[in-house]
Amino acid sequence: MDAGVDVVSEALAGLYERCRTLDAGEVADYIPQLALADPDCFGLALVSMDGHRYRAGDADTAFTLQSVTKPFVLALALAELGADEVWRRVGCEPSGEAFNAISLDEVTGRPANPMINAGAIAVTALVPATGPGERFARILDCLGRFAGRRLDVDEAVHRSEAETGDRNRALAYLMRGTGALRGDPAEAVDTYFRQCAVRATVEDLAVMAATLGNGGVNPVTGEAVVPEPVAVQVLAVMATCGMYDGAGEWMLRVGLPAKSGVSGGLVAVAPARFGVAVHSPRLDRVGNPVRGVAALREVSQRFGLHLMHNAAPGAATVVSEGGGSPEDGDGDDGDCKGGDGGGDRRTGVLAAQGALDFAAAERLLSALGESVGAAPGPVVLNLERVTAVDAAAEAMLTRALTLLADRGHRVVLVGEVLGSGPWEQGREF
Ligand code: GLN
Repeated sequence: MDAGVDVVSEALAGLYERCRTLDAGEVADYIPQLALADPDCFGLALVSMDGHRYRAGDADTAFTLQSVTKPFVLALALAELGADEVWRRVGCEPSGEAFNAISLDEVTGRPANPMINAGAIAVTALVPATGPGERFARILDCLGRFAGRRLDVDEAVHRSEAETGDRNRALAYLMRGTGALRGDPAEAVDTYFRQCAVRATVEDLAVMAATLGNGGVNPVTGEAVVPEPVAVQVLAVMATCGMYDGAGEWMLRVGLPAKSGVSGGLVAVAPARFGVAVHSPRLDRVGNPVRGVAALREVSQRFGLHLMHNAAPGAATVVSEGGGSPEDGDGDDGDCKGGDGGGDRRTGVLAAQGALDFAAAERLLSALGESVGAAPGPVVLNLERVTAVDAAAEAMLTRALTLLADRGHRVVLVGEVLGSGPWEQGREF
């Protein structure tokens, strides 16, 4: 992109400058190798749904992903096993407790959710494989497909956590006791430690986040990494549980699905817009990176990205209405059978444009409702400028047109976008 118009990079550079002076927070040291991180390392990256990449600061520094791997491994388990099987074994409720809490349900013995350690260890163990080697290979491969390149393991960090991670080991044994974990707890924890030690840059992480925001399709490589319903479920869990006991405050102030990790990584997803990642090892008291949280608060506010913020309505759905004949009258309407009934007059013409979803279909159908007269008569619906119809809109339109036909109205469709399924050029209802 021409540097002169690259205002996204400019915005990231501004964020970098403003947040780099924040020096509150501590580098995690309960995994000794992580304590060696440079506390002032700070990188930001953003990747759009078109695969455009933007970055600022130390974007080439590789760091271990730690808990940021959790949503992506959850996606793998959901894709492999299906939602029912996964949610039978792990809950989806925010625990309101620290990431390493012993959050096991008193009745079911299940971990509270897959974003805390207990749930993540259980989910990692669910990934189908003949043994731990194959299981980790599948996890590494999947993380690489999310990132768009093969990733590797920081062996020193893995060793360091394996030597000191007794709390996680204890969690795994407890879960075997409650029935939440099948198989050997030591093996399950070691695979989880290796997963936490997978290394990537903040730019890789932004591609991973963008893949979740893009319905599971990596916007850089074009690969469908996981099915769209899986990406939706993972984002939902990130939104409620991704920031540990800071999740409520995060939703209040930032309002985006996100996940943090103890090495200072943080991903956030603006669904259908972009993925963003920050790396900064100084952590606040709940284990979230101080500069990352500050940067994401500002991004969300400045760009109006809070999920509960109502975006301005899209372009008008109904672009013309009137009686007599299809608006452009340029002879393209030959397929329209409205005039072959032997002299009947068209009483209404409606034209729609853009992508039809629930809200757009509602707008179109309320205009259609007004344009059909009480007495049965023909209506022309011109959909030539409709660019997409989602499943909800298609069902709504089909149902409405069938109802009109049942009441004796004749509705004629013009437009090729709906040329498959129940929609045909010139189809009459
Ligand atoms: N490997 C770390 C642990 O289990 C991951 C925790 C985190 O990033 N919050 O303690």
